[in-house]
Amino acid sequence: MKPDASESDIQRVIEVVEKLGFRPHQMPGASRTAIGITGNKGAVDPTHFENLPGVADAIRVTKPYKLISRDLRPEKSVVKVGNAEIGGSELAMIAGPCAVETVEQVFQVAEVVANSGAKFFRGGAFKPRTSPYAFQGKGEDGLKILAEVREKYGLNIVTEAMDERGIDLVEKYGDCIQIGARNMQNFSLLKYVGQTRKPVLLKRGMAATLEEFLLAAEYIMAEGNYDVILCERGIRTFGTHARNTLDLSVVPAVQKLTHLPIIVDPSHGTGRNYMVNPLARAGVAVGADGLIIEVHPCPEEALCDGAQAQTLEQYQELYTQIKAIHSILTQEEMTIASA
Ligand code: PEP
Ligand code: MN
Repeated sequence: MKPDASESDIQRVIEVVEKLGFRPHQMPGASRTAIGITGNKGAVDPTHFENLPGVADAIRVTKPYKLISRDLRPEKSVVKVGNAEIGGSELAMIAGPCAVETVEQVFQVAEVVANSGAKFFRGGAFKPRTSPYAFQGKGEDGLKILAEVREKYGLNIVTEAMDERGIDLVEKYGDCIQIGARNMQNFSLLKYVGQTRKPVLLKRGMAATLEEFLLAAEYIMAEGNYDVILCERGIRTFGTHARNTLDLSVVPAVQKLTHLPIIVDPSHGTGRNYMVNPLARAGVAVGADGLIIEVHPCPEEALCDGAQAQTLEQYQELYTQIKAIHSILTQEEMTIASA
């Protein structure tokens, strides 16, 4: 739509799309609204829309993914998560333990995360573990602890759900529903989370191509939830020096094709304590919109992913360093914009 299109112009286009038997997706942006169309079997004749008041252009998106594509929405999406944003000019830091273990453990980390100036807290209450005998998470009790973190520290809660019941619970207690790497292609779960109105953090599957990753995001958006944040968390390769291979090249690739924000998870991406900081710095340098960092007050006692957890001190050092890198990048953007 044109920047000056009125609400009734937008509604008119939506009505026309519905009359044709297709599904309209209204996606407001900072300066203009895009209206995506899905449910059509073949090409839709653009003359249905071209001459309607307020319409700037009718574009055919020929890629397999539609709603996530830059063709539909050239400007970047900024996703509101609780009282903060991901994808805007500020770098989003999501820090916290792999798993919620105890109130003390969680509060200890939350205090440091909140004092650092970060706006998001992570912590798993439902843990997808390789072994059925490993700690599976505290479930709803864990979510209640996370809700207390929001109350006490003002942090926005990002936490994983693994099934529909979990999604209902995370919707109730959290601010952002994480869909983990192992569920990236759980299509019924993607459809279910697409019907919620909470933002979704979608992690890349450990063997997913970029196209599969983007189509997973498309699944969520096709259901009407447009608040999707992508996360690169490492993929499986032949390398054994790290837990996964953090594929930073996917960040500019994603940014070229989609308007969605993308963040980087160097914790799962490397699985090694000493690699997290350097790869976090690289993630910011490559242009990610944010980071996920696992932090534990005592990594050697962690019930999950202790090998990659940053201590409280390491986290503070890491955040100071990446803020410095991010400020150079944003100054540079300002210089380029004014040149
Ligand atoms: C996590 O964030 O704790 C997690 C399990 O991540 P992933 O799905 O990327 O393995
Ligand atoms: Mn973890």
